[in-house]
Amino acid sequence: MSVYLDHAATSFPKAPPVAAAMHAFIESAAGNPGRGGHRLTIDATRHLEAAREFIAELLGADIDRTLLGSGATFWLNTVLSSVLQKGDRVVTSGLEHNGVMRPLRALQQERGIDITVVDGEASDGVPEADEFAAAVNASPTQLVVVTHASNISGALLPVSEIARRVAPVPVLVDGAQSAGSIPIDFSSMGVAAFVCSGHKGLLGPTGTGVLLLAPDFEIQPLIKGGTGSRSESEIMPHGLPDRFEAGTPNTIGIVGLGAACRWLQNQGISTLHAYQKTMLDRLVMGIESIAGVNLHGRGVVRERVPILSFTCDGFDNGELAAWLDREHGIMLRAGLHCSPAAHRRLGTYPNGTLRVGIGPTTGEDGIDALIDAIREKMEQSQHRRGIQR
Ligand code: PMP
Repeated sequence: MSVYLDHAATSFPKAPPVAAAMHAFIESAAGNPGRGGHRLTIDATRHLEAAREFIAELLGADIDRTLLGSGATFWLNTVLSSVLQKGDRVVTSGLEHNGVMRPLRALQQERGIDITVVDGEASDGVPEADEFAAAVNASPTQLVVVTHASNISGALLPVSEIARRVAPVPVLVDGAQSAGSIPIDFSSMGVAAFVCSGHKGLLGPTGTGVLLLAPDFEIQPLIKGGTGSRSESEIMPHGLPDRFEAGTPNTIGIVGLGAACRWLQNQGISTLHAYQKTMLDRLVMGIESIAGVNLHGRGVVRERVPILSFTCDGFDNGELAAWLDREHGIMLRAGLHCSPAAHRRLGTYPNGTLRVGIGPTTGEDGIDALIDAIREKMEQSQHRRGIQR
């Protein structure tokens, strides 16, 4: 049996129509979109723009301000390095991924930006909107950047309320773990920008990511280059999306992402979320009663995406993950999951956790297989300890 429980790293399998859509595109329409006027370039442009429409529709965004690129990391870097100039101040949470923290630390070194981390008083490390408001009111602030859902505990942060409380300071949301897992309506979220990966909850291929920009939020592109438009000029065009999509796009991947978003729209994210929540609840119920198992980042009842972090007393996370894969065919991830600050906050640094990421194809049998395997391991170790005593 093979059980994939690493959807928080990347989804597998992808949405059912993804592979066929990519295959059909590469076989019949994979010209260079927006470059020239022949039929293959026109076909490719049509596919690219249709995908953009599906993506924008699923995320409740304006198609003209839905930008497509290589991943969440690329778009986080774009927004952070555009907004934060010499001496500026940014406020963020203590639960951020290195996709946020590494660009911020680099900007701290290069431009002397000031980083204030709101740690959150609740035991799960999730800051309340009030705590952000207090941090922003303490000193002039140019940007708030905050993860929508912790990639360690799955806990959701109140991003819309934060945006309301810190206005007019713009809020950038890292939606890498929320897009596709919970309904997103960017148009009513009240934030300046929303970034997400295409390959996680959106069930698309790797190498794809999305940036949504609010109507009044202006930024500069991180990279400059050919767009197929205004070829006479050596200056980047002003119009969107070209201004932010320099270079030949990953059209094959974007076509796959479009097919995934269309499928998600048809299934209904609320329905998929409700199903994944039942799988998460089943896992929590089964695993929390096993002696020696500790769940992390769940001290407070909170809305969350289907992620669970746990550790087992007396066991190394990496060895346990390797044993689960080898002996039971269960794939999940051990370690710090690129979020060292979150582990410091949750008391699981430096060893990290075992992280379960649930997806739409996760079944009760997979969840039960994990619970049974962990129970077996913990009972064996208790038995051994009993004998040694
Ligand atoms: N932010 C969070 C919260 C994430 O979990 C991830 C992916 N692990 C990223 C950002 C970066 O996403 P990507 O690797 O798709 O660029």
